[in-house]
Amino acid sequence: MNPTAKAVCIARNYAAHAEELGHQAPQKPIFFIKPASAMRPFALPIRWPTNQGACHFELELACFMGKKLVQAGRQEAKEGIGGYGLALDLTLRDLQKRLQQAGRPWEMAKAWDGSLPLSPSLPFKDLPEAEDCLLELEINGETRQKERTSRMITPIFDLIAQASHWFTLNPGDIVLTGTPAGVGPLAPGDQITARLAGQWEFKTQVADS
Ligand code: ZN
Repeated sequence: MNPTAKAVCIARNYAAHAEELGHQAPQKPIFFIKPASAMRPFALPIRWPTNQGACHFELELACFMGKKLVQAGRQEAKEGIGGYGLALDLTLRDLQKRLQQAGRPWEMAKAWDGSLPLSPSLPFKDLPEAEDCLLELEINGETRQKERTSRMITPIFDLIAQASHWFTLNPGDIVLTGTPAGVGPLAPGDQITARLAGQWEFKTQVADS
């Protein structure tokens, strides 16, 4: 992983997910950042900080940036994407709720070391239907998240364009696009399979202890 890369992430970009966490769908994107130290190869066993309560999975489409973008428009944003993959935006949900209730930033719940398992990047041309493709997450053989990317509140290219108005996006940076409904806690030994567009499959597991 590139040590200077960052992942720009969005909260509540699918209405049904905002609802399941008890929030209204936002009028404008809510961005946050995970640093390079959060990124891990997808297949490495998942661990999280001990004594922090539940760690939730959030499956997300990841955009791997291929060009530098500064205050880009939608078309330029689209051309700036070098490839696609899948990510887990791992979240210490109990800690996040406590921080939110106290009106504090939530980085400690979202940006810890290893909180961003990332698949390899698939070439942009291999996913022409990125704005309407299927994301699927199975845990121990049971489907837990299944949604099309067309259900995003802010669609991919608009999202990247808007992100680039706040943060310069450099080649190697990642933009996460939000998680659909179905999030929940991970448990030791869970076997995780993530699928993109019914074609590409990535597997990982939660460490045993
Ligand atoms: Zn997320």
